Amino acid sequence: MITVAGVQPESIADELGLKPGTQVVAINGREVEDFLDWEFLSADEEFVLHVRQPDGEEIEFEIERPLDEPMGVALEPPRIRRCANRCDFCFVDGLPPGLRDVLYIRDDDYRLSFRYGNFATLTNLKAHDIERVIEYRLSPLYVSVHATEPVVRRHLLRNPTAPEIIPQLQGFAEHGIQFHTQVVLSPSVNDGPVLRRTLNDLWAFGPGVLSCSIVPVGLTEFSKHHLCREPTTEECRAAVREAESRWPAALESRGIHWVYGADELYLRAGLPLPGAGAYDGFEQVENGVGAVRWLQQRIDSAAAGFRDWAGRRIGVVTGTAMAALMPQVLEPLARATGAEFELVAVENTLFGISVTTAGLLPGQAIAEALAARPELELALLPGESVNDDGLFIDNMSVESVARQLPFEIRLSKDFADALDLPLAA
Ligand code: SF4
Repeated sequence: MITVAGVQPESIADELGLKPGTQVVAINGREVEDFLDWEFLSADEEFVLHVRQPDGEEIEFEIERPLDEPMGVALEPPRIRRCANRCDFCFVDGLPPGLRDVLYIRDDDYRLSFRYGNFATLTNLKAHDIERVIEYRLSPLYVSVHATEPVVRRHLLRNPTAPEIIPQLQGFAEHGIQFHTQVVLSPSVNDGPVLRRTLNDLWAFGPGVLSCSIVPVGLTEFSKHHLCREPTTEECRAAVREAESRWPAALESRGIHWVYGADELYLRAGLPLPGAGAYDGFEQVENGVGAVRWLQQRIDSAAAGFRDWAGRRIGVVTGTAMAALMPQVLEPLARATGAEFELVAVENTLFGISVTTAGLLPGQAIAEALAARPELELALLPGESVNDDGLFIDNMSVESVARQLPFEIRLSKDFADALDLPLAA
C-alpha cells in the first residue's frame, strides 16, 4: 500500500477526491506496494483503482482516461531498501556523528537504480523483487559489480552470502534487462589481475552490459583506514591503462569505448582527461565519469543564452577534488560570458580534508570561504550539495548561507542553469 502525498488541482485524482493521506490499496485487484506498482499498473487507459480515504472509507473507481492525461498524484517517498553488505569503504561508515538520520541509511535499492541511476549491488533481492524486475522490465539497472570473482566480491562487500554476479546478471539479461556497471577500485583487492578478470567477464557477457566505469575508492577521516586505503598515483595509472587498452577492440566491435575511468581516477593518476568523444553518451556522468567534458559541452551549447556578464566577478564554489580540473571548465565559460570567474575551492570542515567532493560540502564551510571573497558580485554553488529541501549536509539552508554574504548566490548544476538571469537589483 502506498500513500498519496499531494494531488494536483483539477487533475483526475482531484476530481476523484483523492487527497494527501489517501492510501492506494490495489489496481485491478493487485496490491500496490510502491511507486513501481503505481506507475506500471496505472499506465493503461482503463483500470480499477481501489483506495482507502483518510477517514477509512474504501472506494473503487473505474478509471478511463486518455493515456496522455496524468492522474495528478504525488506519492510519499518509498521506504528505502537497506543494504545487506558491510563494505570496508562504505561511505556511511565514513560519516561523522550528528548528521541527519537519513544520511546514515545504507540504501541498496534496485528500484532507485532503475528510476534514478543509483548503483545497487543486487545482493538483497528476494524472489519477488526478481520477478518485478523482469515483469516491469526495469532496464537498464545500475549495478555495483566491483569484482566478478565471487570470493573477492564477497570480501569487498563483506557479505558471505552475496550471489555470484555474472549468473545473476545473466538471469536478468535473458529477459532483456541491461546494465550499466561500476567497479569501485580498492587497491590490492580488486585492481590488477582482479580488475582485468572483471572487465574480461563483463565484456564477455555481451551487449547486455552497456558500460563499465572505474571509480577510485574515496575515504573520509572517519573511514576504516585499518581495512582499506585509497589507490596511489601508480595504481590509478594502471587502472587507466587497463581501461584504455580495451578501447580499440570495443570501438571496433560495439562502436563505443564501453569502459570509462572516472574523472577522479585520471586526476589521481596525474593524467589528462580524454576528449569528450571518449565518453560516448555520457551514460555515467552522474557517477563522476566525464563530468568535466560534459560541463564543457553544456557551456558550449548554452553559450548563446548567457547574458552579458562582461567585467563581473563571479565565484565558483567547488570541492578540492574538482579544483584542479575546473580551470578547464571556467576558461570556456569566461569566453562565453565575458565574466571573470574565480575558483573557490572549499575544504570539507565536517568530514575532513580527505573528502573532496563538492556534493558533500557543508553550508557553513561554503559561507566562510565566500565571506573571505567580498570582491565577488555573484557566487555559484554546486547544485548537488543541497537536498530537495534546500539543505546542505550540515543542515544549513541556502537562505542561511545567503544571509551571511554581501553578494548573491545561486545553485548551479551546469552553469547553463544559472547565468541566464541578471543579478537581483
Ligand atoms: S553496498 Fe557497501 S558501500 Fe554501498 S551502502 Fe552497502 S555497505 Fe555501503
